[in-house]
Amino acid sequence: GGHPKPQEGGPAPVSGVDRILAIGSGKGGVGKSTVSSNLAVALAKQGRRVGLLDADIYGPSQPRMMGVSKRPASPDGKTIIPLKAHGVTMMSIGLMMDPDKAIVWRGPMLMGALQQMLGQVEWGELDVLIVDLPPGTGDVQLTLCQKSQVTGAIVVSTPQDVALLDARKALDMFATLKTPVLGLIENMSMFKCPDCGSEHAIFGQGGVAAEAERINVPLLGALPIDLETRLAGDSGTPIAAGEGEMAQAYAKLAQGLIE
Ligand code: ADP
Repeated sequence: GGHPKPQEGGPAPVSGVDRILAIGSGKGGVGKSTVSSNLAVALAKQGRRVGLLDADIYGPSQPRMMGVSKRPASPDGKTIIPLKAHGVTMMSIGLMMDPDKAIVWRGPMLMGALQQMLGQVEWGELDVLIVDLPPGTGDVQLTLCQKSQVTGAIVVSTPQDVALLDARKALDMFATLKTPVLGLIENMSMFKCPDCGSEHAIFGQGGVAAEAERINVPLLGALPIDLETRLAGDSGTPIAAGEGEMAQAYAKLAQGLIE
């Protein structure tokens, strides 16, 4: 499609990228990265040209979840060639740093790293670039939303009160930054006992739907606690790459995201 011209100092498009979807959460461990990788794979299966940018500097998990560990090449020392996995073009800030070193990056370094990920990685032509944000409301979120034209943000939360409380802060941040929130995704919403079939609301029930209603955005989907999802993520082949029930759930979610 046509790419709008960048404004002076304002948000600029990423060359060749039609839409940027940012996936955020209030706190860590709610499944933001799991949802990001699975949405990316599901969209790719539907024939979309998809990029996945792992911007979670505190705990980059996409190399593991997507099953890549190679350091991306930079033949000219300037541009970075992204990796390919499960039909998705991907890049992780984790592939640029020493996996055993804790990072104590300051704001300006983070901004530099993020801008490198957006501007120097050869993403090519993409229908959508999914950005897996760090949890919370820090410098990376600010920089991404202020420096690039984010089409929309999705906030992932579990139904647990503490997660929802933090999710609300993330939602407030996107509102302040005037980044449209496309909707909420409830993750780990229900556990269905594989032995007896009974359902258990381990992290509570109804909270994410109520929050979505309160701020008048759609609840895009509710994903159960699922052992296969966790195992698939750990093994480097997201569950959405398969054909089962969860793959179908992600396919449905993905379909609703891009008309
Ligand atoms: P975040 O990105 O929010 O920190 P992750 O996506 O890394 O969260 O998920 C944290 C852990 O929970 C991972 O081990 C992941 O495999 C697991 N997980 C995520 N979603 C589900 C789910 N729906 N069912 C079971 N395990 C899940």
